[in-house]
Amino acid sequence: MSLPVLIVGAGLGGVCLAQAMRKNNIPFKLFEQDKRHSLRTQGYRLRITEHGVKALEDSLTPEIFALFEKTCAATTGLGVRIKPDGTSATTLGGPGGPPGPPSGSFSGDIYTIDRSAFREALLTGLDEHVQFGKSLLHYEEFDDRIVAHFADGTTAQGALLVGADGVRSKVRKQHIPNFPAIDTGMRIVFGKTPITPEYLAASPENHRTGMSLVTDPDDKDQPTLMFESIHFPYANDVTDPPLPNPYMYWVLVVHQSKIPFSDERSWHITPQEAACLTRQLTTSWDPSVRSVIDYQDASQSSIRSLLSAPFEIAAWEPSGRVTLLGDSVHVMPPTGAMGANTALRDAADLVHQIVEAGGIEKLDRQVIGDYEVGLRAFAKMAIDMSWQGGMKSFGLRPVDQCEPILL
Ligand SMILES: Cc1cc2nc3c(=O)[nH]c(=O)nc-3n(C[C@H](O)[C@H](O)[C@H](O)COP(=O)(O)OP(=O)(O)OC[C@H]3O[C@@H](n4cnc5c(N)ncnc54)[C@H](O)[C@@H]3O)c2cc1C
Repeated sequence: MSLPVLIVGAGLGGVCLAQAMRKNNIPFKLFEQDKRHSLRTQGYRLRITEHGVKALEDSLTPEIFALFEKTCAATTGLGVRIKPDGTSATTLGGPGGPPGPPSGSFSGDIYTIDRSAFREALLTGLDEHVQFGKSLLHYEEFDDRIVAHFADGTTAQGALLVGADGVRSKVRKQHIPNFPAIDTGMRIVFGKTPITPEYLAASPENHRTGMSLVTDPDDKDQPTLMFESIHFPYANDVTDPPLPNPYMYWVLVVHQSKIPFSDERSWHITPQEAACLTRQLTTSWDPSVRSVIDYQDASQSSIRSLLSAPFEIAAWEPSGRVTLLGDSVHVMPPTGAMGANTALRDAADLVHQIVEAGGIEKLDRQVIGDYEVGLRAFAKMAIDMSWQGGMKSFGLRPVDQCEPILL
């Protein structure tokens, strides 16, 4: 019996990889540091587009793909562009509109997902393979196997270790030390507002018809707010996973200099403190525009730094025993809606390469190296798209005005 593939991180890329391994009868174990399925605020909405959809079609069984489709929210079109004072409600989609497909093409191959619901759906059937509360500390690489060491003192042996452990990846830190990245200087605070009668009474109807943007072309220091109503057409049919009640999804994008505390402190702030920050940042706005912030569920807010891998990720020496996928190796600003799509693409391609090679017994430096060449080429395109979207609509500064950092 072959040693299993050890997947570290049951985020979006990790669960897709696990499903693809299961579909192709490749033995694997999935380790996640969180103790339960949804410990942290993870319920933001994402768009899954062409490459992500193709990866899911390849990776999921038809039954789980059907479940995934039923857990999706309705995909709406573009909404309005509003100024913080509530004036100038023009339809988005013309020049200067947000990145992504033009108005009218939000259908077919574009899925709108709630991160928690999606992740729960993709954990279906993985119970015997997944272990929660397992935080990887480091690994040891041998010619014939890899050994993962966890914070609880346990170890696991595998044929291959895949770091799907997100932007602060321990696997990447060991495999590619001092990974160069870029701090865009922008921070996002995101959250959810339940669609209650009180919220409906306070917000104009045209703010709820599609993905809308609040920007002030005359004051670049103002934060930008993107928001959209999310509802689940199959909410009454799907019980496992349970689908959220309808909500407004919103993201406030602001430069770090406008945040009244340090980055280090922001890593530790509570959801309630993040909610309080959004109220402070929008205090001068018209109450109708601000209503989506005022009526938020304060337990759901979260703050993140917008970091990016370089446009050209330098090649590293491949190993036949360890590799990476997703944000662990190519984090990008979410302003192109490409990060998760790229992680899903990586997952599907890694399994494709293993199957093409003839299974895990045939894994070597060449197979993993080929996968990593494809990963870097796709990431380059996705990172570029993300920056274009960010500079066009969310105040991202050109890369030469951003701070180089090491991750
Ligand atoms: C507000 C927002 C909106 C976004 N919108 C979009 C969108 O519309 N479309 C899109 O494509 N992308 C979008 N993204 C980006 C997308 O969410 C990420 O690119 C994607 O989640 C990356 O998936 P991943 O599996 O690589 O990492 P993650 O989903 O971050 O998962 C990493 C997992 O690893 C676990 N982990 C970390 N360290 C360890 C350890 N030491 N041991 C064990 N487990 C560990 C973590 O707990 C986590 O579960 C958005 C992001 C944000 C913040």
